[in-house]
Amino acid sequence: MNSFLFVGGGNSSYISALILNSRYPNKKITIVESEAIGIIGVGEGTTEHWFKFCECLGISFTELIEKCDATYKFGVHFKNWVKDDYYHCVGHPFNAHHADYLAYAATHLVKRTKQRDTIPQFLKEGMLPIPCGDTFGHQLHFDSVKLNDFLLQTCLDRGISIVNDEIIDATFDRQGNIASVNSKTETYKADFYIDGTGFKRTLIQKILGVKWDSYSDHLFMNSAITWHENSSDDIPLFTTSEALKNGWKWTIPTQNKKAYGYIFSDKFCSVEEAKEEVNVKDVDKVIKFEPGKMERMWYKNCMAIGLSAGFFEPIEATSLGITIQQMFCFLHHISSNDSDSFNKYVNTIYDNAFNFILLHYYNVRKDSEFWRFNNTHFKKTEFLENLFDIMLKRLPFKEELEVPWGLFGSLNFIQILYGLNHIDISPIKKEYQFYSEEKREDYNCLINQVKNADDADLIDKMLPHRDKLLALINK
Ligand SMILES: Cc1cc2nc3c(=O)[nH]c(=O)nc-3n(C[C@H](O)[C@H](O)[C@H](O)COP(=O)(O)OP(=O)(O)OC[C@H]3O[C@@H](n4cnc5c(N)ncnc54)[C@H](O)[C@@H]3O)c2cc1C
Repeated sequence: MNSFLFVGGGNSSYISALILNSRYPNKKITIVESEAIGIIGVGEGTTEHWFKFCECLGISFTELIEKCDATYKFGVHFKNWVKDDYYHCVGHPFNAHHADYLAYAATHLVKRTKQRDTIPQFLKEGMLPIPCGDTFGHQLHFDSVKLNDFLLQTCLDRGISIVNDEIIDATFDRQGNIASVNSKTETYKADFYIDGTGFKRTLIQKILGVKWDSYSDHLFMNSAITWHENSSDDIPLFTTSEALKNGWKWTIPTQNKKAYGYIFSDKFCSVEEAKEEVNVKDVDKVIKFEPGKMERMWYKNCMAIGLSAGFFEPIEATSLGITIQQMFCFLHHISSNDSDSFNKYVNTIYDNAFNFILLHYYNVRKDSEFWRFNNTHFKKTEFLENLFDIMLKRLPFKEELEVPWGLFGSLNFIQILYGLNHIDISPIKKEYQFYSEEKREDYNCLINQVKNADDADLIDKMLPHRDKLLALINK
């Protein structure tokens, strides 16, 4: 494979083209994108895999903070899903101490059962320690349109060709591979094609006919409205996910605005009812989608990426993380042309994200028709059955939940189980009793350090998030 042609110029195509270019700078990469169709323009939250992408490309967080209105993200703050708020936090400054997260979590569960998370108070208050470098947290929020401009420029700077055109059909060779893709006026040829056409799925579904695996029996969200407001308030370090009557609302803080979205099921709520519920007259976008993924991401000489490959829903901001991981997986399969192995791995990446997302909906609020429907129609997957069986005996360990290139492991699952009150404390007590006294003492100390932020090395001074960002930009 010497030439790659991407159709679509959304963030997933740009990210993927840049990863490909970083490994194979001599291969010809072209992106054909349609300005007339435009990009989806949502997707302001990332997972920590974003850091891996930046590292691979040599892009600094400071650059993104300057150019894409980016802010630090430490996870998600869940409100009103159950009686008490809870957090899913990744990468706080005490992570270095978390060599043995299970022991830490077990100690926390046994000692501090009233607090439904394991994170420092200062993060909840939007404060950051000064001495940490510019990449702590490893996740960001950003303006997705500014990010698109930034990635486009980075593609151009690195020799990736960009053409404005709309692909309408294709020709095939005898084996059924794509020989060329065509617009009204031009023909484009490459050895390998990548479908980044978003929800249109022009190559993978419309032209190649690969089937869509719907997950709408499990996941009930299928609609969203988005809006924003300018803001010079303090900047939180978390995405907020607040459960509402027919779904949930996200709030994503960038430097100068707050981006909002209400995600719901159209079986229970119309767009007008959703707008009324959140008291918003003018929305930026109304988005409809079917949760699911392609049966095969790589078929013949074509691979789907981003929204054209699959999308479950926005909770936990999985989509860009999956794109990044899928692309790193792809790099390992190009030379062997081994689509079967690749598809197997990518399915497990999607399965891992799906199970994690689904867990968030297990046995939550029951105070509206939608939430009652959600609870009565919840289907536990085999993976979740197994997880709950494990939880009757002990905490799940890293190796049994992680999959190659997957997004979520035991550190993530435990926090959601904890927040939703699904952890039976008795087997954990047994686990805790089994530790040596010395180890128990160490972890008790650590929990107090985290709670009181009294680690002198790390926390000699704190800055509000906004000031920390300004300090980085003006350095
Ligand atoms: C409600 C919602 C919230 C989300 N929140 C998050 C989040 O917080 N975090 C996260 O990681 N992800 C999130 N996502 C997903 C995120 O939006 C996408 O992963 C990301 O924007 C990449 O999209 P894309 O590039 O696949 O598609 P798009 O942005 O839709 O880009 C498609 C591209 O293809 C072009 N195109 C289409 N058809 C043709 C054609 N025939 N010829 C040429 N060009 C064509 C378009 O013009 C465009 O350039 C969210 C998605 C939704 C729907």
